[in-house]
Amino acid sequence: MYKVIIGLEVHCEVLTNSKNFSGSKNTYTNEPNVNVMPVDIGLPGILPVVNKEACRKALKTAMALNCETPDEIIFDRKNYYYPDLPKGYQITQVTKPFGRRGHLSFLVNGKEKTVDIHQLHLEEDTASLEHYSNYSLIDYNRSGIPLMEIVTEPCIYSADEAVRFLETLRNVFLYCEVSEAKSDKGQMRCDVNISLMKDTDKEFGTKVEMKNINAFASVKAAIEYEIKRQSEILDKGEKVIQETRRIDEDGKTYSMREKVDAVDYKYFVEPNLAPVKLTDEFKEQVKNEIPELEYSRIKRYMDMGISENDAQTIAKEKDISNYFDELIKYTNNISLSTNWLTIIILGSLNKLSISINELNITPKMLANVINLVDKKELSSQLAKQIVYEAMDKKCDPAIIIEKSNIKTISNEDELLNIVNEIIKENPTQVEEYLGGKEMVANFLVGKVMQKTNKQANPATSLKLIKEQLERMRK
Ligand code: ADP
Ligand code: MG
Repeated sequence: MYKVIIGLEVHCEVLTNSKNFSGSKNTYTNEPNVNVMPVDIGLPGILPVVNKEACRKALKTAMALNCETPDEIIFDRKNYYYPDLPKGYQITQVTKPFGRRGHLSFLVNGKEKTVDIHQLHLEEDTASLEHYSNYSLIDYNRSGIPLMEIVTEPCIYSADEAVRFLETLRNVFLYCEVSEAKSDKGQMRCDVNISLMKDTDKEFGTKVEMKNINAFASVKAAIEYEIKRQSEILDKGEKVIQETRRIDEDGKTYSMREKVDAVDYKYFVEPNLAPVKLTDEFKEQVKNEIPELEYSRIKRYMDMGISENDAQTIAKEKDISNYFDELIKYTNNISLSTNWLTIIILGSLNKLSISINELNITPKMLANVINLVDKKELSSQLAKQIVYEAMDKKCDPAIIIEKSNIKTISNEDELLNIVNEIIKENPTQVEEYLGGKEMVANFLVGKVMQKTNKQANPATSLKLIKEQLERMRK
């Protein structure tokens, strides 16, 4: 058995109107080479300009990841040649990035895990290449789009931890509204570094890097495949070679290139960009824009007695979690609120293909219904029916309740008459009950509900049915 060591380098495109250093549009389009200006392709004499919005969002993310942030940031030039990098260099950050020494916590299989963040920096995306059998095409639309890179320490120990980290990180981006982070559009992608070591080893083993994986499922597959591959090499007493591998559609990884000596990028401070001051005032402003994040909400919900699973379901999306927080301002029944949100509301959003912001039932309207159910003035069966109807008619459920004069019959005298009728009408079931099949009482409750147009209080009905049948037994 070997200990697995994983470190991730995550790239995420930042949501801005224009590119990082030019006025070209930062939009996703299928038409190639339309969002291109001289700065993006490095024509002679170009002068880049810093994008304040990109800086604000990089700083916001760094703060959300609990990083230390400097008083000024500096951009550096990383020199290398590749066809997708027309300038021959990439503007990135090594000297003073937006954040260092951060951390992000989350739950993995019920246990808290904290991943240390080495640094967060802002750089620019490259162009994209498409390769065909005997030629390649290049699209410069992506060239110069602001890109955040988040580098973790080598402190992730399993595929599950890696995937949960990525999901949590993605939600930091979404909660902070710094990126749409869609992996199918390549807006979020990651490099996975992985090595194995024995428990008794003092130093990490040789790492292998897998580049540019988009889907989280592929991250999991790649890690699992590498654990198997590297274990087999080490079992044979051989050495893992340091290399870059790619993952293929079959879930296996294949060697791309061996890592020769460390590449020398000849970094130097970007001469066309002055350092950018991050004043205390600006930092304070950005910090105040960060909402309560997913993990904090999950813990808050669990402290209220909500299960881990439900807490995660509610906090998965900021708007849904905000709806829930609003809902519980108007009702004290947390468990009913949880069930209504996770089952009825989320189920309906799914079925209607709408977002929670498009739902006509406000948290306050829903709370009113929940409170009636809580006080047993409305059966939950009937309540559901009313809420579905209100969604259909795009109206307040209160209007339907008022119009149809719906109220729950809890009056025992009134119910007793109906219960007695039902007992008379169902002699077979009564005999079954008296013969020991006590579950049959629920069937009789169903009959009472039918007869009363679902207005009977089910709990009271059950109680009365049992009382009457027990009396008959005697
Ligand atoms: P390099 O100089 O090869 O780029 P870095 O030290 O900058 O390596 O680390 C790059 C990434 O690799 C980081 O995410 C880091 O956590 C991870 N990493 C470093 N060493 C290891 C290792 N032995 N096993 C797994 N991941 C590692
Ligand atoms: Mg590195």
